[in-house]
Amino acid sequence: LCPGFIDLHVHAPQFAFAGTATDRPLLQWLETYTFPTERRFREDLKYAQTVYHAVVSELLANGTTTAVYFATLDVEPCRILVDIAFKQGQRALVGKVCMDRNAPTDYCHSTEQNIRDTETLIAYIYQTAGRRTSTGSLPLILPVITPRFIPTCTPQLLRALGDLAKVHSCHVTSHISESVDEVEWSRQLDQVDQKNISEGRSDAIVFDSYGLLTDQCIMAHGVYLQDDSDWALLRSRGTSIAHCPLSNFFFAGNVLPTRRLMQRGNRIGLATDIAGGSSPSMLHSARMAVVASRALHHHQNTQSNEDDVILDYRHAFFLATLGGAESLGLQDRIGTFRVGMEFDAIILSAANQDGRSPIHVFETDNVGDVFQKLCVLGDDRNIRRVFVQGKDVTVQRTR
Ligand SMILES: [Zn+2]
Repeated sequence: LCPGFIDLHVHAPQFAFAGTATDRPLLQWLETYTFPTERRFREDLKYAQTVYHAVVSELLANGTTTAVYFATLDVEPCRILVDIAFKQGQRALVGKVCMDRNAPTDYCHSTEQNIRDTETLIAYIYQTAGRRTSTGSLPLILPVITPRFIPTCTPQLLRALGDLAKVHSCHVTSHISESVDEVEWSRQLDQVDQKNISEGRSDAIVFDSYGLLTDQCIMAHGVYLQDDSDWALLRSRGTSIAHCPLSNFFFAGNVLPTRRLMQRGNRIGLATDIAGGSSPSMLHSARMAVVASRALHHHQNTQSNEDDVILDYRHAFFLATLGGAESLGLQDRIGTFRVGMEFDAIILSAANQDGRSPIHVFETDNVGDVFQKLCVLGDDRNIRRVFVQGKDVTVQRTR
């Protein structure tokens, strides 16, 4: 019995093409695959329902009890995702993606409409799941303010979203310093936006200037954050990073120095980043985090001290559970077991009585070995029961 997994970054609509479409660099990938898919959710609510039901079920079957979901630009399909997560009993943070520039004309809204629709979705989430209070149990669905990333959001929109986050005291999420071309584009835009400055600012400074780097903010990736200054800024704000190791191999071309950042006190959790990452499994993401740390160590010609770079299965398990809870600022409610917490839990089993487990346990294995085998070899076949807020929400697979 262990805490359920917390996936800090999932694009729910992109589940439609997860497992395909990893052949373009980030900005082309958005134009070619992402925007057309997300736009379809506006035109075809039945399709939205089918995909959202599939992604919520699949994540639950993989033991993800909390997910931070990017939905789409349009508020109607966002409501469908809220309804499905609520009905299936998955804890979810759901965000309406905001874009008011540098997006296709038929998949872009005005600044005012982005703000209005974000407020509409927040109200709908409160109406569906209740509002958070300091004493009651945590509502199952929480709102999250979601500018897609700096290039698609004007300064006016970012400022208004920062104000909304303050008014509602709610979570914020976005992408930060993900790829070389994105970082460059953000800087160029910022230089134009700010007029009199000689050089555009880093993503971290831009987000911070609009009040978006808060202690309830989860930024994805961060692999190109400027060492020290940007990281110190995130640390001082209590802003966390969603580490998306598999996606970073495909779209970032760089590895997050996760271990070093953990040692410095930056808050970090783990994510699948569907569909930049193909697997819905946090166990898979945890393994990718270990592999990524090894790749980083090799890239540094193994000069660096292993203890500053390499993650093992225990670090990765922490990132997938309590690290995620700390990143959300919800460590007193989820991510571990203490009296009074929400009991978001999974039963992991290595038992092979039905011949379906990929794990084999021998008499020479002690309990630590079994746990390590579950972390390194396990998959959804080993996740036997899933509980959220004490309720059994196990997805029955029909195999
Ligand atoms: Zn993403």
